[in-house]
Amino acid sequence: MSVVRSDETGGRLLGLALIALTAAGCVNGRTVVPVRMQPAALATPSAVDLSSHEATVRGIAGIIVRELGLPLPETVTVYVYSSREIFEQGLVDDGRVSRVRAAELSDFALGVGKRRQLLLHQEPNVGSAEWVRLVAHELAHVSQIELAEGEGRAEQWLAEGLAEWTAYRVLERLRLDTVVRRRLVAVESVRDHRPVVARRLDLETLGTPRGFTVRHLREGSQATYQLSYLLADYLIARDGLDHVVDYFRSCATRGDRHGKFAAAFGQSLEDFEREALAHLAKFSH
Ligand SMILES: [Zn+2]
Repeated sequence: MSVVRSDETGGRLLGLALIALTAAGCVNGRTVVPVRMQPAALATPSAVDLSSHEATVRGIAGIIVRELGLPLPETVTVYVYSSREIFEQGLVDDGRVSRVRAAELSDFALGVGKRRQLLLHQEPNVGSAEWVRLVAHELAHVSQIELAEGEGRAEQWLAEGLAEWTAYRVLERLRLDTVVRRRLVAVESVRDHRPVVARRLDLETLGTPRGFTVRHLREGSQATYQLSYLLADYLIARDGLDHVVDYFRSCATRGDRHGKFAAAFGQSLEDFEREALAHLAKFSH
């Protein structure tokens, strides 16, 4: 999921046309658009069209599949809700989320990527770089869920970090922002983040969906997501995106969570945490 209400997205978009809600799919503030993801149907990045929800999703999906090599299912159903209340109801009716979890999620999340589904709370930012980031972040989760054949199976900090990593690559490809700038923003926002300063990230807790939610609500959403991004960015730079993709794929089989991380990355979660802390220490004041 994504919660970052960004005030730091470089430049709101430059006169992008407002996304028109298709009359056919929009009923009582709920728009439903099934988007077919066959490679041939996906837009090439040079021709990405952000004028409708369908075109936006297809354009972003094209970059994710063709350029980043991340898989997406044949069809993704995109739900766009016009208010917080309709979003909460949609999480229950369309996303099959429990009522308690839907109430919690709709309070802070702007979007949720589920299996072959994208559920988005539409704010006035449709068509902005921030909207593109949100759609790309949630589509990245849809890809991860496809790889792991289910939700919440991989380390949550890595799932969130990879979703942000994917979104920043998409933003750069569409010339809406740069990876370098996003990395600087991330470094700035984790510099004084308590777990970083205390040199105790506790990836054990950050690794579960529940633990991640508790931590970002308690310690700050922006910093927690940016920390996750920097960890994923470090791991991808060190071992390659293919390796991280293989890890997500390995989460489809039964077996213990820590063992899978160790098998994929050749070190325990604790050892990775130590290494990551040393990396993050380079950014301290
Ligand atoms: Zn997310």
